[in-house]
Amino acid sequence: MRKKIVAGNWKMNNSSYETIKLLNELIEFNFSKGTRVIVCPAHTQLGIAYEKLKNSNIEVASQNMHFELNGAFTGEISAKMIKSVGVLTSIIGHSERRVFFNETDQILTKKVETAIKENIEVIFCVGEELSIRKSKKHFRFVQSQLENSVFLQPKKSWNKIIVAYEPVWAIGTGETASPEEAQEMHFFIRSLISKKYGSDLANSVSIIYGGSVKPNNAKEIFAKPDVDGGLVGGASLNSEDFAKIVNAF
Ligand code: PEP
Repeated sequence: MRKKIVAGNWKMNNSSYETIKLLNELIEFNFSKGTRVIVCPAHTQLGIAYEKLKNSNIEVASQNMHFELNGAFTGEISAKMIKSVGVLTSIIGHSERRVFFNETDQILTKKVETAIKENIEVIFCVGEELSIRKSKKHFRFVQSQLENSVFLQPKKSWNKIIVAYEPVWAIGTGETASPEEAQEMHFFIRSLISKKYGSDLANSVSIIYGGSVKPNNAKEIFAKPDVDGGLVGGASLNSEDFAKIVNAF
């Protein structure tokens, strides 16, 4: 059975003080073990978050990592570094990394390979811009993002891959894909995984949705059969909103 997952991507938000406050509030919700709950703080807060959460049901993931393990890459963080503070999961390929930091499929492929080699689980983001959806090329586009990155990985790597479908036009905009739009893309992604790696593997991969998930829409989106949870940005910065989303299953 694939896991239900709700991950909060805090992006470039929260000081150490704010991190501790938010984590203290989240711990109080005592989430049930039925859903994997993950928070993704900024790199400077990863160690603090890991220490704070290590005896709770909440996990910590990084928002990004470099493909090299060390060296002359000023301002970057490596798999080794995030592992050294206890963190074993990383988002890779978030649309903000692709757009603002020019991360190409080639770069992302290297990141995925390094992550898997280093035993880091990957939350791999795909999703189309509005112009692509309007021109009805969104299925083809997402397929190519997958084929040029995670589909280059061998079958055995897939126990460490979660796919996040995040239509770029729905991220931070208040616009969300309808539950039906999310379902049809998640079904499409699962069918591609099935064609490439077989149905057993496809049925075991969690595919989560991201793009303005809020307490008032999470239930309907999560009710769709191929939606295994959410990657939540803005609403993950408020403990009550995030808890409502976690409890929307
Ligand atoms: C995200 O950053 O991955 C995201 C989905 O953001 P938001 O929920 O704010 O749209």
